[in-house]
Amino acid sequence: LVIPAFDEFRDQLDTIFDACRDEASGSVASYIPQLARVDPEKFAMAVCTIDGQRHSVGDDHDSFCVQSTCKPVNYAIAHGLSSADSIHSHVGREPSGRSFNELTLNPAGLPHNPMINAGAIMASSLIKPEESLADRFDFVMSKWRELGGGAEPGFDNTVFLSEKATADRNFALAYFMRENGAFPPNTNLMETLDFYFQCCSIRIDVRHMAIIAATLANGGVCPTTSQRVLDAESVRNCLSLMYSCGMYDYSGEFAFTVGIPAKSGVSGALMLVVPGVCGFAIWSPRLDRCGNSVRGVRFAQELSKKYSFHSYATM
Ligand code: GLN
Repeated sequence: LVIPAFDEFRDQLDTIFDACRDEASGSVASYIPQLARVDPEKFAMAVCTIDGQRHSVGDDHDSFCVQSTCKPVNYAIAHGLSSADSIHSHVGREPSGRSFNELTLNPAGLPHNPMINAGAIMASSLIKPEESLADRFDFVMSKWRELGGGAEPGFDNTVFLSEKATADRNFALAYFMRENGAFPPNTNLMETLDFYFQCCSIRIDVRHMAIIAATLANGGVCPTTSQRVLDAESVRNCLSLMYSCGMYDYSGEFAFTVGIPAKSGVSGALMLVVPGVCGFAIWSPRLDRCGNSVRGVRFAQELSKKYSFHSYATM
């Protein structure tokens, strides 16, 4: 087993979790009422190792919408359907150094990377564009199910409708990309945006999300079912981008201090991947200035201090 003394590990995680509870700074996302209404005190954490050892604590049965944590999943799915070269003729792989929804493209007229809104809209456009929206969403939902060991993901229609109703910036990003010829020919812009908003509105709990993170830690094979869900190259490239671009404007700092691939979402979700070891999910809705969960970041920092999970740690 990758973590032989799992009981002890679990106790240590609970201690870190409890220590992060005092963290009361930040505020919940308010751009749509459905997120603004979430109880800011909610807090949950789950872990799953590549051997399928699991633990969870706090509000671990409450579901939340995945928001930007759908970005690595959609990227890996799109990657698995084609190749790195073909995907990256439509989206870059460089951090933007700007906020996640900044109206900006790289010098080639492409979104900077798939972990910010523009690039995530692009990655969504590359998932089975020839099929109906219903079949495309069904396919994405089946991937969330398989990545999470068979648990059924939910869908938050209210979040979807209000995302769509307040998405001027995402519409602007899509038109800006189309103006620059960034999309593949025949891309249906409105359908692509609906698809992206729907993916952001998928609901799961931390137990499910930790298994997804563990599947990524395990090179695409789900630890609880042994099913290969993603190919190893798609996962490797996805983790590289999570490492360099997964934490919005804090990605460089996070890579420096914590040193593992991660992805956050404005719902307060945070997915952490320790390649070859385990995956974590944390959910706590209060966000910092960059849009990352305050307690989530704190948990990741404490975790990395306690264990040598940093990619370049040799001590
Ligand atoms: N639905 C949000 C948006 O597209 C997701 C952004 C996020 O989690 N940062 O603006």
